[in-house]
Amino acid sequence: MELLQQIDIGPEYLEEGEDLVLERIAEVKKELSEKLLILGHHYQQESVFQFADVTGDSLKLAKKAAESKDKQYIVFCGVHFMAESADILTSDKQIVVLPDLRAGCPMADMASADDVEWAWQELEEVTGGSRIIPITYVNSSAKIKAFVGPKGGSVCTSSNAERVLSWAFSQGDKVFFFPDEHLGRNSAYALGIPENEVVVWKRGKRLGNNDPEQLKKAKVILWDGYCTVHMQFKASHVTMWREKEPDIRIIVHPECRHEVVKLADHYGSTESIIQTVNNSPGASKWAIGTEINLVNRLNKQNPDKEIHSLSPFQCLCSTMYRIKPSYLLWVLENLKHGRIVNQITVDPETASFAKIALDRMLKI
Ligand code: SF4
Repeated sequence: MELLQQIDIGPEYLEEGEDLVLERIAEVKKELSEKLLILGHHYQQESVFQFADVTGDSLKLAKKAAESKDKQYIVFCGVHFMAESADILTSDKQIVVLPDLRAGCPMADMASADDVEWAWQELEEVTGGSRIIPITYVNSSAKIKAFVGPKGGSVCTSSNAERVLSWAFSQGDKVFFFPDEHLGRNSAYALGIPENEVVVWKRGKRLGNNDPEQLKKAKVILWDGYCTVHMQFKASHVTMWREKEPDIRIIVHPECRHEVVKLADHYGSTESIIQTVNNSPGASKWAIGTEINLVNRLNKQNPDKEIHSLSPFQCLCSTMYRIKPSYLLWVLENLKHGRIVNQITVDPETASFAKIALDRMLKI
């Protein structure tokens, strides 16, 4: 991702007391209501999340933005790749704004378009004749999605990764999956692909640190990217909870390592974690392996249940956390005065190629 510079929003915003900031957000939101849609990802902090008109995971939010054609301004309280997807799916008249440009995603940044292009060429050379289908997790830059679209590949999300992978095998012999190694591995194993047919492509290494024979034999080649939040959950945390609370249920996100997913009672996307916990019987006990803001919210919304983070440490997405009320206020007050700050735009060529990959997923 090109480095995005966030300008200094100044003491008027940074030094204002939080209560006043929240009051001002409520006021300006009301004034802009006809033109404005605020989207809030589940991992946002509560002080921002409370202002969202729609909450959800990244794809649900981008689709909602596209459906809300009457809304001129889409303020995306999430991270950069999500705002890009919203810009790709919305009309040219709609403006997508990210309150703090430093809110990137470390996982998405682990797969640059140049590195992926380079790896693709090496892989094609060594596996000559095989049809390779590229699949990118939605947590990737628009440039990566644009790479995948024209090559017959698709985007996937954490809720449809297994389905998209099955589709890919109906189209070709091998799948090159990026940027999340763990979602790719968990999905491949769920489809019954043997471990010795799944290899990891190490960034920056010749042939991804594999020998040509391994690559020829492999069905799935996984980019070695990962989520810095979900990587913090360990198999030992599962064991610790099971010893402490034998009747606890463990649920984790598929961005967690396979050894954690294998030990858990359930795994699934953010939306499926929410539904499973909300629909579980009262008095049930849960240890949840996902971002702490969501775990805390589920805890608050389910007072009849005992809900813990799977990890004893606070697993916070620090880039999501960059969206603070003062930055939300700053973008909204600028919009009120007709000034657009922090607009996220994807150039038309990249957007049209990326849309091929996104549309393909929606059809699968
Ligand atoms: S939780 Fe993980 S995948 Fe999501 S934005 Fe943060 S680092 Fe990226």
